[in-house]
Amino acid sequence: MKTTLRTRRLEELNWMEFKRLVPKRTAAVLVPVGTIEAHGVTGLGTDNQIPLSVAERIAVPVNALIAPAVHYGITKSLLPYPGSVTVLPDTFERYVSEVAAGLADAGFRRIVFLNGHGGNTEALKNVSVRLYRDKQAYSMVIDWWTLCDEEVRQVYGHAGGHAGTDETALVMVDHPEQVRRQEYKKELAFLARPGLAALPFPGSIILSKKGEGFPDFNPAKATQLMAAVCAKVEQTILDVFGRWNTLDRNADFAERQ
Ligand SMILES: [Zn+2]
Repeated sequence: MKTTLRTRRLEELNWMEFKRLVPKRTAAVLVPVGTIEAHGVTGLGTDNQIPLSVAERIAVPVNALIAPAVHYGITKSLLPYPGSVTVLPDTFERYVSEVAAGLADAGFRRIVFLNGHGGNTEALKNVSVRLYRDKQAYSMVIDWWTLCDEEVRQVYGHAGGHAGTDETALVMVDHPEQVRRQEYKKELAFLARPGLAALPFPGSIILSKKGEGFPDFNPAKATQLMAAVCAKVEQTILDVFGRWNTLDRNADFAERQ
C-alpha cells in the first residue's frame, strides 16, 4: 500500500502522527547504519551518507519510515587514520539490538538495516537473530555494495572498492562539495589481497581487483549508478517483503487448520 506522508523521517514526525501511521499505514522502517572512517577524498561519514541517500529515495516505493541513522560502527583496519572512530563489536551489537528492539516495541514489524560498512555486517546479522528471538520482528541486512556489484560493473565496466569508484560516485550525487577531487592521487589506493590483514591498512582507498575501482569523478555516471543502486535495493526489499507476507499468510492458514 502506497501512502503519502508529510515526511518519511521518524525524527520529524510527532508522536500523534506516529501513532496514526505505525503499524496501520506502515510497519516497515529503514535503519541506515555506517561508521566514521577514512575514505580517500570523501568524508569520514561516507558510510552513513550513502545509506541515507538511498533511504530517502526508496522510502516511498517500499512504504517505510526512515529511522535516525546509527553513525558509529565497527572500524578496524582504517582506525589509525586521522578522524576514524570505532566502537567495539559487542558494544555495537548490543546498542543496535536495543535500538531495533525499541523500533519493534514502537510497532515496526519489518526492520531493514541499510548498511554502508562491511565491518558492521556480522554484528547486524546477529542483531537480526536477537530481534526475532526477543520481538518476533522480521529484519534484513542490505550491504548495498555487494548487492549492487553487478550494477557497478554495468555502469563502469569494472569493480568498485572502498572509497573507490562506487562510493565516491554515490557521495558525489548528494554531497558534491565533499568530494575533494583536487586531493586525489592514485597512491591513496592499495590493493586488498586474500591472506593480508594490515592495521593500519596501507591505503584509505581499498581496491579489490588489480587496476580497477579508482574513483572517476564523472557526475553523469554517478547519477546513473545512484539510480541503479536504488532500483536494485528497492526491488530486493519488495521481493523479501512479498515473501514474508506469503510466509505470514501460510502461518495464519496453518494455525486455522
Ligand atoms: Zn565506505
